[in-house]
Amino acid sequence: MALADPLAPPAGAAAHPDGLIGPNAVIQLRAALAERAGEAAALGLFLRAGLADWAEARLDAMIPQAVPAALFETLFAAYPHDAASEIAAEAGRRTADYVMAHRIPGPVKALLKALPAPLAARLLLKAIQRNAWTFAGSGVCRAAYGAPSRVEIAGNPLAMPGCVWHVGVFSRLFQALVSRRARVTHPACARAGDPLCRFEIALD
Ligand SMILES: [Zn+2]
Repeated sequence: MALADPLAPPAGAAAHPDGLIGPNAVIQLRAALAERAGEAAALGLFLRAGLADWAEARLDAMIPQAVPAALFETLFAAYPHDAASEIAAEAGRRTADYVMAHRIPGPVKALLKALPAPLAARLLLKAIQRNAWTFAGSGVCRAAYGAPSRVEIAGNPLAMPGCVWHVGVFSRLFQALVSRRARVTHPACARAGDPLCRFEIALD
């Protein structure tokens, strides 16, 4: 049975050729850091990254991927590894929450939650691939259902130790829309010398 993808956007390439990425990569990092360490610390990250102008910018459109990339680099340089990882993961979860609140129509969310997990996973993976530019910028994203399912990003512009931001995004999406027991791991990472970043999603 052929299934229409209820999350399909207008036809377009998954990778954004200009290296633009969704603004929540910055907005939610700032929010997660402010919650954890205070507003002054959040502003300090932008200053330390040489991106003071972006700290107060109104971000309501796609932004250059170099901006969040520099902020995450600075985060890992400025904070102990565990703290930076937790903040980046929380920024990812917040980004997924934003996507679910504002980008996925209510009836589609209800459908995904009602479907058997394998079917919901297939639809969510298709949506992730088709909307990949929002979280992969110029990276090329491929998603495939399986046991486990896989999301691969070649040229991941937001590669960071453990790619905890992407793990946070995918974990929250799959746990909220597919199965509470969904688990996301990151067994291959460009940051660790692998050819691409691969995320694996087990449903139970
Ligand atoms: Zn990675």
